[in-house]
Amino acid sequence: MIENKISQRAKNIKPSSTLAVNKKAAELVAAGEKIINLSVGEPDFDTPDFIKQAAIRALNEGFTKYTDSSGIKQLRQAICDKFKKDNNLDYQVEQIIVSCGAKHSLFNVLLAICDQDDEIIVPAPYWVSYPEMIKLAGGKCVVCKYKEDFKMDIEHLKSIITRKTKAIILNSPSNPTGIVYSEKELIEIAEIACKYGIIVISDEVYEKLVYGGLKHISIASLGEEIKKLTIVVNGVSKTYAMTGWRIGYLAAEMPVAKAIANIQSQTTSNPTSFAQKAALTAITADQSFIKPMIEEFEKRRNFIINNLSPKIHYCKPDGAFYVLLKIGNMTSGQLAQKLLEEEKLATVPGDDFGAEGFVRISFATSMTNLEETVKRLNNFAERNV
Ligand code: PMP
Ligand code: GLU
Repeated sequence: MIENKISQRAKNIKPSSTLAVNKKAAELVAAGEKIINLSVGEPDFDTPDFIKQAAIRALNEGFTKYTDSSGIKQLRQAICDKFKKDNNLDYQVEQIIVSCGAKHSLFNVLLAICDQDDEIIVPAPYWVSYPEMIKLAGGKCVVCKYKEDFKMDIEHLKSIITRKTKAIILNSPSNPTGIVYSEKELIEIAEIACKYGIIVISDEVYEKLVYGGLKHISIASLGEEIKKLTIVVNGVSKTYAMTGWRIGYLAAEMPVAKAIANIQSQTTSNPTSFAQKAALTAITADQSFIKPMIEEFEKRRNFIINNLSPKIHYCKPDGAFYVLLKIGNMTSGQLAQKLLEEEKLATVPGDDFGAEGFVRISFATSMTNLEETVKRLNNFAERNV
Protein backbone atom coordinates (compact mmCIF):
# COMPACT_ATOMS: atom_id res chain seq x y z
CA MET A 1 0.00 0.00 0.00
CA ILE A 2 1.44 3.33 -1.07
CA GLU A 3 0.03 5.09 2.05
CA ASN A 4 2.45 3.12 4.18
CA LYS A 5 5.33 4.65 2.28
CA ILE A 6 4.49 8.21 3.33
CA SER A 7 7.17 9.61 5.62
CA GLN A 8 6.46 10.23 9.29
CA ARG A 9 7.47 13.83 8.62
CA ALA A 10 4.72 14.28 6.06
CA LYS A 11 2.17 12.42 8.19
CA ASN A 12 2.81 14.83 11.05
CA ILE A 13 1.91 17.88 9.00
CA LYS A 14 -1.58 19.29 8.72
CA PRO A 15 -2.61 21.42 5.75
CA SER A 16 -2.72 25.21 6.14
CA SER A 17 -6.14 26.01 7.61
CA THR A 18 -6.15 29.54 6.15
CA LEU A 19 -5.75 28.14 2.65
CA ALA A 20 -8.09 25.19 3.33
CA VAL A 21 -10.99 27.40 4.54
CA ASN A 22 -10.43 29.73 1.60
CA LYS A 23 -10.71 26.79 -0.81
CA LYS A 24 -13.85 25.50 0.86
CA ALA A 25 -15.46 28.97 0.86
CA ALA A 26 -14.61 29.46 -2.83
CA GLU A 27 -16.24 26.10 -3.64
CA LEU A 28 -19.40 27.06 -1.72
CA VAL A 29 -19.56 30.42 -3.53
CA ALA A 30 -19.10 28.64 -6.87
CA ALA A 31 -21.99 26.34 -5.91
CA GLY A 32 -24.22 29.41 -5.51
CA GLU A 33 -24.06 29.86 -1.71
CA LYS A 34 -24.11 33.49 -0.54
CA ILE A 35 -21.01 33.15 1.60
CA ILE A 36 -18.85 36.10 2.64
CA ASN A 37 -15.30 34.83 2.54
CA LEU A 38 -13.33 36.33 5.43
CA SER A 39 -10.76 33.56 5.54
CA VAL A 40 -7.56 34.01 3.59
CA GLY A 41 -5.39 37.03 4.28
CA GLU A 42 -4.53 38.71 1.02
CA PRO A 43 -5.13 42.24 -0.22
CA ASP A 44 -8.30 42.40 -2.32
CA PHE A 45 -6.64 45.01 -4.58
CA ASP A 46 -5.10 44.07 -7.90
CA THR A 47 -1.33 44.36 -8.35
CA PRO A 48 -0.70 47.92 -9.65
CA ASP A 49 -0.44 48.02 -13.43
CA PHE A 50 3.07 49.50 -13.62
CA ILE A 51 4.34 46.47 -11.65
CA LYS A 52 2.60 44.06 -14.03
CA GLN A 53 4.10 45.96 -16.97
CA ALA A 54 7.61 45.41 -15.57
CA ALA A 55 7.04 41.64 -15.64
CA ILE A 56 5.61 41.82 -19.17
CA ARG A 57 8.64 43.83 -20.29
CA ALA A 58 10.96 41.31 -18.69
CA LEU A 59 9.20 38.47 -20.53
CA ASN A 60 9.32 40.32 -23.84
CA GLU A 61 13.02 40.99 -23.34
CA GLY A 62 13.61 37.27 -22.83
CA PHE A 63 14.35 37.47 -19.11
CA THR A 64 13.14 33.90 -18.80
CA LYS A 65 16.17 31.95 -17.66
CA TYR A 66 17.68 30.87 -14.35
CA THR A 67 19.06 33.75 -12.34
CA ASP A 68 21.52 33.78 -9.43
CA SER A 69 19.77 31.31 -7.11
CA SER A 70 19.66 33.86 -4.27
CA GLY A 71 18.03 36.45 -6.55
CA ILE A 72 19.28 39.03 -9.03
CA LYS A 73 21.84 41.48 -7.74
CA GLN A 74 19.79 44.56 -8.68
CA LEU A 75 16.85 43.36 -6.58
CA ARG A 76 19.06 42.40 -3.64
CA GLN A 77 20.68 45.85 -3.81
CA ALA A 78 17.23 47.48 -3.91
CA ILE A 79 16.28 45.44 -0.82
CA CYS A 80 19.45 46.67 0.95
CA ASP A 81 18.45 50.23 0.08
CA LYS A 82 14.91 49.58 1.37
CA PHE A 83 16.26 48.24 4.68
CA LYS A 84 18.43 51.34 5.03
CA LYS A 85 15.66 53.78 4.14
CA ASP A 86 12.74 52.17 6.00
CA ASN A 87 14.38 50.38 8.91
CA ASN A 88 17.78 52.06 9.32
CA LEU A 89 19.48 48.71 8.78
CA ASP A 90 22.77 48.26 6.92
CA TYR A 91 23.22 45.02 4.99
CA GLN A 92 25.51 43.91 2.17
CA VAL A 93 23.97 42.38 -0.96
CA GLU A 94 25.35 38.94 0.04
CA GLN A 95 23.28 39.05 3.23
CA ILE A 96 20.02 39.21 1.27
CA ILE A 97 18.33 36.08 -0.10
CA VAL A 98 15.25 36.40 -2.29
CA SER A 99 12.90 33.40 -2.14
CA CYS A 100 9.51 32.20 -3.41
CA GLY A 101 7.47 34.20 -0.89
CA ALA A 102 8.16 35.09 2.73
CA LYS A 103 6.75 31.67 3.60
CA HIS A 104 9.64 30.10 1.71
CA SER A 105 12.12 32.50 3.34
CA LEU A 106 10.84 31.41 6.77
CA PHE A 107 11.12 27.74 5.92
CA ASN A 108 14.66 28.26 4.61
CA VAL A 109 15.57 29.98 7.88
CA LEU A 110 14.21 27.09 9.94
CA LEU A 111 16.03 24.52 7.79
CA ALA A 112 19.23 26.49 8.23
CA ILE A 113 19.09 26.80 12.02
CA CYS A 114 17.18 23.77 13.37
CA ASP A 115 18.96 20.65 14.47
CA GLN A 116 16.85 17.71 15.64
CA ASP A 117 14.72 18.76 18.65
CA ASP A 118 16.02 22.31 18.80
CA GLU A 119 13.38 24.44 20.43
CA ILE A 120 11.84 27.40 18.62
CA ILE A 121 9.65 29.67 20.72
CA VAL A 122 6.45 30.81 19.05
CA PRO A 123 4.36 33.41 20.90
CA ALA A 124 0.62 32.69 20.64
CA PRO A 125 -1.57 33.72 18.90
CA TYR A 126 0.70 32.79 15.98
CA TRP A 127 0.41 32.40 12.24
CA VAL A 128 -0.74 28.85 11.43
CA SER A 129 2.33 27.89 9.42
CA TYR A 130 5.03 28.48 12.06
CA PRO A 131 4.51 25.29 14.13
CA GLU A 132 4.18 23.09 11.05
CA MET A 133 7.31 24.52 9.41
CA ILE A 134 9.25 24.02 12.64
CA LYS A 135 8.17 20.35 12.72
CA LEU A 136 9.16 19.90 9.08
CA ALA A 137 12.59 21.30 9.86
CA GLY A 138 13.00 18.79 12.72
CA GLY A 139 12.61 21.35 15.50
CA LYS A 140 10.23 21.54 18.42
CA CYS A 141 7.69 24.34 18.68
CA VAL A 142 7.44 25.78 22.21
CA VAL A 143 4.46 28.09 22.60
CA CYS A 144 4.74 31.26 24.69
CA LYS A 145 1.49 32.32 26.36
CA TYR A 146 -0.19 35.65 25.73
CA LYS A 147 -1.50 38.25 28.15
CA GLU A 148 -4.90 39.92 28.10
CA ASP A 149 -3.67 42.43 25.52
CA PHE A 150 -2.70 39.50 23.24
CA LYS A 151 1.01 40.37 23.52
CA MET A 152 3.52 37.81 24.71
CA ASP A 153 3.77 37.10 28.41
CA ILE A 154 7.41 38.05 29.04
CA GLU A 155 7.57 36.19 32.36
CA HIS A 156 6.38 33.04 30.64
CA LEU A 157 8.90 33.64 27.85
CA LYS A 158 11.75 33.76 30.37
CA SER A 159 10.51 30.56 31.99
CA ILE A 160 10.48 28.47 28.80
CA ILE A 161 14.00 29.28 27.63
CA THR A 162 16.22 26.19 27.89
CA ARG A 163 19.64 25.17 26.60
CA LYS A 164 17.87 23.84 23.52
CA THR A 165 16.19 27.16 22.66
CA LYS A 166 17.52 28.24 19.30
CA ALA A 167 15.19 31.01 18.26
CA ILE A 168 12.01 32.93 18.82
CA ILE A 169 9.65 33.97 16.03
CA LEU A 170 8.49 37.55 16.36
CA ASN A 171 5.67 38.75 14.13
CA SER A 172 4.85 42.43 14.44
CA PRO A 173 2.40 43.55 13.11
CA SER A 174 0.90 40.19 13.88
CA ASN A 175 -1.22 37.72 12.01
CA PRO A 176 -3.81 36.88 13.46
CA THR A 177 -4.16 39.65 16.12
CA GLY A 178 -2.86 42.78 14.38
CA ILE A 179 -0.93 43.74 17.52
CA VAL A 180 2.16 45.91 16.99
CA TYR A 181 4.99 45.84 19.53
CA SER A 182 6.21 49.21 20.81
CA GLU A 183 9.89 50.15 20.91
CA LYS A 184 9.93 49.63 24.67
CA GLU A 185 8.50 46.13 24.34
CA LEU A 186 10.93 45.28 21.55
CA ILE A 187 13.86 46.44 23.69
CA GLU A 188 12.73 44.08 26.43
CA ILE A 189 12.51 41.16 24.00
CA ALA A 190 15.88 42.09 22.44
CA GLU A 191 17.52 42.14 25.88
CA ILE A 192 16.27 38.63 26.59
CA ALA A 193 17.42 37.37 23.18
CA CYS A 194 20.88 38.91 23.69
CA LYS A 195 21.18 37.65 27.25
CA TYR A 196 20.52 34.03 26.21
CA GLY A 197 22.01 34.26 22.70
CA ILE A 198 18.72 33.36 21.01
CA ILE A 199 18.08 34.08 17.33
CA VAL A 200 15.10 36.33 16.58
CA ILE A 201 13.27 35.46 13.38
CA SER A 202 11.46 38.73 12.77
CA ASP A 203 8.57 38.29 10.34
CA GLU A 204 7.82 41.81 9.16
CA VAL A 205 5.55 41.11 6.18
CA TYR A 206 2.84 43.49 7.51
CA GLU A 207 5.30 46.31 8.24
CA LYS A 208 3.51 48.86 6.02
CA LEU A 209 0.03 48.01 7.29
CA VAL A 210 -0.04 49.96 10.56
CA TYR A 211 -2.78 52.35 11.66
CA GLY A 212 -3.50 55.24 13.97
CA GLY A 213 -0.19 56.93 13.20
CA LEU A 214 1.87 54.05 14.59
CA LYS A 215 5.22 53.20 13.05
CA HIS A 216 6.62 49.73 12.64
CA ILE A 217 10.03 49.21 14.23
CA SER A 218 12.31 46.37 13.24
CA ILE A 219 13.82 44.74 16.31
CA ALA A 220 17.08 44.40 14.36
CA SER A 221 17.43 48.20 14.34
CA LEU A 222 17.72 48.43 18.13
CA GLY A 223 21.48 47.84 18.29
CA GLU A 224 24.41 45.94 16.81
CA GLU A 225 24.13 42.98 19.17
CA ILE A 226 20.46 42.27 18.43
CA LYS A 227 20.98 42.95 14.71
CA LYS A 228 23.55 40.15 14.59
CA LEU A 229 21.05 37.75 16.20
CA THR A 230 18.10 38.76 14.04
CA ILE A 231 16.98 37.33 10.74
CA VAL A 232 14.54 39.77 9.16
CA VAL A 233 11.92 38.28 6.84
CA ASN A 234 9.77 40.41 4.57
CA GLY A 235 8.17 40.26 1.14
CA VAL A 236 6.11 42.00 -1.51
CA SER A 237 2.84 40.05 -1.07
CA LYS A 238 1.04 42.34 1.38
CA THR A 239 2.67 45.71 0.72
CA TYR A 240 2.11 45.68 -3.04
CA ALA A 241 -0.86 43.29 -3.40
CA MET A 242 1.43 40.68 -4.98
CA THR A 243 0.50 37.47 -3.14
CA GLY A 244 0.48 35.32 -6.28
CA TRP A 245 3.89 36.47 -7.52
CA ARG A 246 5.71 34.59 -4.78
CA ILE A 247 8.56 36.92 -3.90
CA GLY A 248 9.82 37.18 -0.33
CA TYR A 249 13.22 37.98 1.09
CA LEU A 250 15.37 37.89 4.20
CA ALA A 251 18.44 39.54 5.64
CA ALA A 252 20.80 37.71 7.97
CA GLU A 253 24.36 37.65 9.25
CA MET A 254 26.74 36.31 6.60
CA PRO A 255 27.14 32.70 7.87
CA VAL A 256 23.37 32.23 8.12
CA ALA A 257 22.77 33.90 4.75
CA LYS A 258 25.38 31.62 3.21
CA ALA A 259 23.76 28.50 4.71
CA ILE A 260 20.37 29.60 3.38
CA ALA A 261 21.86 30.38 -0.05
CA ASN A 262 23.23 26.83 -0.15
CA ILE A 263 19.86 25.31 0.81
CA GLN A 264 18.04 27.35 -1.81
CA SER A 265 20.60 26.56 -4.51
CA GLN A 266 19.99 22.84 -3.96
CA THR A 267 16.21 23.00 -3.67
CA THR A 268 14.16 25.62 -5.52
CA SER A 269 16.96 27.61 -7.22
CA ASN A 270 15.92 31.20 -7.96
CA PRO A 271 12.43 32.61 -7.48
CA THR A 272 10.72 33.28 -10.84
CA SER A 273 12.92 35.52 -12.99
CA PHE A 274 10.29 37.97 -14.26
CA ALA A 275 8.54 38.15 -10.85
CA GLN A 276 11.87 39.39 -9.48
CA LYS A 277 11.85 42.20 -12.07
CA ALA A 278 8.30 43.12 -11.01
CA ALA A 279 9.36 43.15 -7.35
CA LEU A 280 12.35 45.35 -8.25
CA THR A 281 9.99 47.85 -9.90
CA ALA A 282 7.65 47.82 -6.88
CA ILE A 283 10.41 48.30 -4.31
CA THR A 284 12.30 51.03 -6.19
CA ALA A 285 9.21 53.09 -7.18
CA ASP A 286 8.10 56.19 -5.31
CA GLN A 287 6.21 54.47 -2.47
CA SER A 288 3.32 56.95 -2.36
CA PHE A 289 1.25 54.56 -4.54
CA ILE A 290 0.67 52.23 -1.56
CA LYS A 291 -0.88 54.98 0.57
CA PRO A 292 -4.47 54.68 -0.74
CA MET A 293 -4.44 50.94 -0.04
CA ILE A 294 -3.23 51.46 3.52
CA GLU A 295 -5.80 54.22 4.08
CA GLU A 296 -8.55 51.92 2.81
CA PHE A 297 -7.48 49.17 5.24
CA GLU A 298 -7.47 51.68 8.08
CA LYS A 299 -10.96 52.87 7.13
CA ARG A 300 -12.22 49.29 7.19
CA ARG A 301 -10.54 48.55 10.49
CA ASN A 302 -12.12 51.64 12.02
CA PHE A 303 -15.52 50.68 10.68
CA ILE A 304 -15.29 47.23 12.26
CA ILE A 305 -14.05 48.30 15.67
CA ASN A 306 -16.58 51.12 15.83
CA ASN A 307 -19.51 48.88 14.96
CA LEU A 308 -18.91 45.47 16.50
CA SER A 309 -21.34 44.70 19.31
CA PRO A 310 -19.93 45.00 22.86
CA LYS A 311 -21.00 41.37 23.21
CA ILE A 312 -18.13 40.37 20.92
CA HIS A 313 -14.72 40.01 22.54
CA TYR A 314 -11.94 40.92 20.13
CA CYS A 315 -8.37 42.11 19.84
CA LYS A 316 -8.19 45.65 18.45
CA PRO A 317 -5.76 45.47 15.53
CA ASP A 318 -3.15 48.22 15.21
CA GLY A 319 -1.82 46.62 12.04
CA ALA A 320 -2.26 43.89 9.39
CA PHE A 321 -5.83 43.13 8.23
CA TYR A 322 -7.28 40.66 10.68
CA VAL A 323 -9.57 40.68 13.69
CA LEU A 324 -9.39 37.79 16.14
CA LEU A 325 -12.75 37.54 17.86
CA LYS A 326 -14.81 35.43 20.23
CA ILE A 327 -18.57 35.18 20.62
CA GLY A 328 -20.07 33.30 23.55
CA ASN A 329 -18.55 30.18 24.95
CA MET A 330 -17.84 27.85 22.07
CA THR A 331 -14.74 26.12 20.80
CA SER A 332 -13.13 27.75 17.77
CA GLY A 333 -14.34 24.90 15.59
CA GLN A 334 -17.95 25.22 16.80
CA LEU A 335 -17.93 28.98 16.40
CA ALA A 336 -16.52 28.83 12.86
CA GLN A 337 -19.00 26.09 11.93
CA LYS A 338 -22.00 27.99 13.33
CA LEU A 339 -20.92 31.25 11.68
CA LEU A 340 -20.70 29.43 8.37
CA GLU A 341 -24.01 27.60 8.70
CA GLU A 342 -26.11 30.27 10.38
CA GLU A 343 -24.59 33.50 9.08
CA LYS A 344 -22.80 32.35 5.90
CA LEU A 345 -19.52 33.82 7.10
CA ALA A 346 -16.32 31.90 6.33
CA THR A 347 -13.79 32.48 9.13
CA VAL A 348 -10.67 30.60 10.24
CA PRO A 349 -10.88 28.73 13.58
CA GLY A 350 -8.49 30.25 16.12
CA ASP A 351 -7.20 26.97 17.56
CA ASP A 352 -4.79 26.64 14.64
CA PHE A 353 -3.42 30.06 15.69
CA GLY A 354 -3.03 28.95 19.30
CA ALA A 355 -6.15 30.92 20.29
CA GLU A 356 -8.84 28.41 21.27
CA GLY A 357 -12.34 29.90 21.42
CA PHE A 358 -11.59 32.55 18.80
CA VAL A 359 -12.02 32.81 15.05
CA ARG A 360 -10.09 35.07 12.69
CA ILE A 361 -11.68 37.31 10.09
CA SER A 362 -9.74 39.12 7.40
CA PHE A 363 -10.89 42.64 6.54
CA ALA A 364 -9.13 42.54 3.19
CA THR A 365 -12.53 42.57 1.53
CA SER A 366 -14.95 45.27 0.31
CA MET A 367 -16.74 47.72 2.62
CA THR A 368 -20.05 46.29 1.34
CA ASN A 369 -19.00 42.85 2.53
CA LEU A 370 -17.79 44.25 5.84
CA GLU A 371 -21.01 46.14 6.52
CA GLU A 372 -22.93 42.91 5.99
CA THR A 373 -20.36 40.96 8.03
CA VAL A 374 -20.66 43.23 11.07
CA LYS A 375 -24.46 43.03 10.87
CA ARG A 376 -24.36 39.22 10.79
CA LEU A 377 -21.76 38.98 13.59
CA ASN A 378 -23.81 41.30 15.80
CA ASN A 379 -27.00 39.32 15.12
CA PHE A 380 -25.17 36.14 15.97
CA ALA A 381 -23.88 37.70 19.21
CA GLU A 382 -27.44 38.75 20.13
CA ARG A 383 -28.56 35.13 19.89
CA ASN A 384 -25.52 33.53 21.53
CA VAL A 385 -24.34 35.78 24.34
N1 PMP B 1 4.15 35.65 7.47
C1 PMP B 1 2.90 35.94 7.84
C2 PMP B 1 2.65 36.38 9.23
C3 PMP B 1 1.84 35.80 6.94
O1 PMP B 1 0.60 36.08 7.31
C4 PMP B 1 2.12 35.34 5.64
C5 PMP B 1 0.95 35.03 4.77
N2 PMP B 1 0.89 35.59 3.63
C6 PMP B 1 3.45 35.10 5.28
C7 PMP B 1 4.44 35.24 6.23
C8 PMP B 1 3.85 34.61 3.93
O2 PMP B 1 3.67 35.53 2.92
P1 PMP B 1 4.15 35.25 1.45
O3 PMP B 1 4.68 33.87 1.38
O4 PMP B 1 2.97 35.46 0.57
O5 PMP B 1 5.23 36.26 1.16
N1 GLU C 1 -0.93 34.50 5.39
C1 GLU C 1 -2.24 34.55 4.84
C2 GLU C 1 -3.25 34.08 5.86
O1 GLU C 1 -2.88 33.86 6.98
C3 GLU C 1 -2.29 33.83 3.51
C4 GLU C 1 -2.51 32.35 3.55
C5 GLU C 1 -1.35 31.60 4.06
O2 GLU C 1 -0.30 31.63 3.41
O3 GLU C 1 -1.51 31.03 5.13
O4 GLU C 1 -4.40 33.95 5.57
